[in-house]
Amino acid sequence: MTPTGTARALVLRQARRLEATTFELPSIGDDDGILRIEACGLCGTDHEQWSGHISAAYPYIPGHEIVGIIEAVGTTAAARWGVTVGDRVAVEVFMSCRICEACLAGQYRRCVRHGVRHFYGFISSEEAPHLWGGYATHLYLHPDALVLPVPAGLDPAVATAFNPLGAGIRWGVTVPDLQPGEVVAVLGPGIRGLSVAAAAKDAGASFVLMTGLGPRDLPRLDQAKAFGVDLAVDVSTTDPVRALRQAGLRGADVVVDVTAKAPAAFAQAVKLATTGGRVVLAGTRGAGAQTPGFDPDHIVYKELTVLGTLGVDFPAYQQALRLLESRRFPFEQLPRETVDLDGAEELIARLAGEAEGAVPVHGVVLPNG
Ligand SMILES: [Zn+2]
Ligand SMILES: [Zn+2]
Repeated sequence: MTPTGTARALVLRQARRLEATTFELPSIGDDDGILRIEACGLCGTDHEQWSGHISAAYPYIPGHEIVGIIEAVGTTAAARWGVTVGDRVAVEVFMSCRICEACLAGQYRRCVRHGVRHFYGFISSEEAPHLWGGYATHLYLHPDALVLPVPAGLDPAVATAFNPLGAGIRWGVTVPDLQPGEVVAVLGPGIRGLSVAAAAKDAGASFVLMTGLGPRDLPRLDQAKAFGVDLAVDVSTTDPVRALRQAGLRGADVVVDVTAKAPAAFAQAVKLATTGGRVVLAGTRGAGAQTPGFDPDHIVYKELTVLGTLGVDFPAYQQALRLLESRRFPFEQLPRETVDLDGAEELIARLAGEAEGAVPVHGVVLPNG
């Protein structure tokens, strides 16, 4: 049942150096499998890995928003995952041993065997069987991998949005316990921000404000309405707190900050929150980041709750795939650029702001062309 042949992959040898490398396809047993990767979505993490802002043990194959077709699977694994050869699945970033205390409690992001160090898109390509990332024609499905069926009819490049949309659901709805009728502010208009907006609207938010910063964000803010945003604000020209007041609202019940490289955003998030509001921090800012303009007294006077979130979990991913399937929001029409493995590095450099050219809202690598 094990396919023979080779896989082609891009290995990150050091910052800014992706190198095409060939690996033998691994032989599999009863409890693992091989995925033929159709699409791997790119997010902020990808260009931060490429530029070296996020460290992992070189060399490794990046890519963690993976959709593909089961090419080979052992009988035990097939029964556990509920899949057969030829099925299209999305692969979760994190793995779960299913027996440690954290896994049994459903907190598999803290699995003692894998945890927040050993997951897809981050594992050394020196560790056999090497195929641990999405920038490759094939992925090794470890016995502890978690896969979700992709609804029929969903294009694989669009389906990679299961990852940002899953994040949007967890960060915008689950973690802050969003209630119908509440007002939500989303800081950052990238695919994650749009996903938070869509998730919030889907969960019954009465009003969604979205902020962006400067000309680069304008096309993103323009299309935000289709993703549930009622008011889109460029903070380089407009004060979002005033804009919210002019819309007749005192503040946001839930503020979700998904910005990257925007140190002032946290101060803005705290200002936007209404009394008793919840502020969710999702994007990381890098060690030692400052928060200009942040006044801690606001947290006290307004009795705010500040929540940190890391990653996504199974229920959110499942719901994301259902929401994509429903086509309530136009994820298919998102400005999207797809590249093959040979075009990946140039696109990632552009996403990192280190190469000339337009930046798509959604970048996707199609490793098999
Ligand atoms: Zn990602
Ligand atoms: Zn575990």
